Amino acid sequence: HQLAVHVTPLVGDPSTGAVVVLHDTTELNRLESLRRDFVANVSHELKTPLSSIKAYTETLLGGAAEEAATRTRFLREIEEQANRLDELIRDMLDLARIESAQQPFAIQTVGVTAAVEACRKHHAPRAEAKQVRLLVDDQSPLAQVQADPDGLRVILNNLVDNAVKYTPTGGEVRIDWRVVEQMVEISVADTGIGIPADKAARVFERFYRVDAARSRDLGGTGLGLSIVKHLAQSFGGSVAVQSVPQQGTKFIVSLPAA
Ligand code: ADP
Repeated sequence: HQLAVHVTPLVGDPSTGAVVVLHDTTELNRLESLRRDFVANVSHELKTPLSSIKAYTETLLGGAAEEAATRTRFLREIEEQANRLDELIRDMLDLARIESAQQPFAIQTVGVTAAVEACRKHHAPRAEAKQVRLLVDDQSPLAQVQADPDGLRVILNNLVDNAVKYTPTGGEVRIDWRVVEQMVEISVADTGIGIPADKAARVFERFYRVDAARSRDLGGTGLGLSIVKHLAQSFGGSVAVQSVPQQGTKFIVSLPAA
């Protein structure tokens, strides 16, 4: 433990004794170091696309714009990096809003079937384009959860987005749910690349990516699961992961049943 020590002599003469106060600053230091890491990460994540945009712009202004093919290629790169910045900033603001609880959630009864079906519909074109089967288990029971509908949508979208993203062509993503005591457990299981056992616990950390280069290429910010975890906790629930590398991954969100 880290301690801060304050010594105050009792009276003018130190031989009469002193009051020693010890403050345990371990937790404070931990929070401060988390904050510093976060700021460093944010700066790095924002600077990378920004540097690309600047470099492409300078090259274009330096004469590369003359050639039509090069111009188009560089402008596409600039557009892609700008989109990345946009996505990062949106995710960071979402996370900040959830954490500071600035925006109170509108907790209400939400039907799981309809929420899952909306999510499936939203991701179906992307899954189809990639030839990944996106299935909803029709054996799942009728269930309702206590949650903010927008928050539940974000949770499901992030999990299904990842599942499709990290599953190669020919694979499968399956959504189902069951009622366990007072909770509804919604699972999103894929047959994708999986997560090594020693990395699984870390995927909920902000900006953590098992393979930073691959994830960045696929358009990931490293914030999605962090947002999922905070939302689930805000609704009185939790999220867990089970994975076997090269075989697949299952995320299970547990939310209070209504
Ligand atoms: P990202 O935006 O990079 O996908 P997330 O916070 O959503 O960030 O996920 C963190 C990391 O967890 C990802 O970079 C990836 O390495 C890993 N991950 C998340 N979902 C899956 C999945 N379904 N299969 C394999 N790896 C996953």
